[in-house]
Order: sequence, then structure tokens, then C-alpha cells
Amino acid sequence: MSEESNKQCSICFRRYTEFGHPAEPVKSGRCCNACNDLVVIPARLRAMREATVAPPALTAVSAKAPRRRKAKPTGKAK
Ligand SMILES: [Zn+2]
Repeated sequence: MSEESNKQCSICFRRYTEFGHPAEPVKSGRCCNACNDLVVIPARLRAMREATVAPPALTAVSAKAPRRRKAKPTGKAK
């Protein structure tokens, strides 16, 4: 029996025998354990950290937007 595998890491192109991991978001396909630990996981963490930085539009919505209403004195009626 052979321990050769035709599974190939899509990141380092090494053939691996382990189950493998999804290589997203670095690459499509699957990658080996080493690349998962060294490349894919750090990339995911980085992506998560960037995602937690809320874009200004979101913070503007969550913060109480001051209502801009011109309070015109209605003294002069028609
Ligand atoms: Zn690899």
C-alpha cells in the first residue's frame, strides 16, 4: 500500500496525506495542515480584524444622528 496521495495543497503544491483544510480565502481548493496554520489562519484573522473596523457609514447610523430640522419661527403666517 502506498501513502502517496493525490491531494495537493493549493498553496504550497505539496502532496499531503492528511485530510486537509479549505484554503479560502487565500486560495480556492484545499491546503495542507502547515499552510492552514501558517497562511490561511493568519489571513482569516487579518480579515476578521479588518472587518471589525467599522466603516464610517455604519458608525454614523448607530450613533444618534442629530436631527437637522430648521426651527423656523412661524410668526409670519401667510
Ligand atoms: Zn501547503
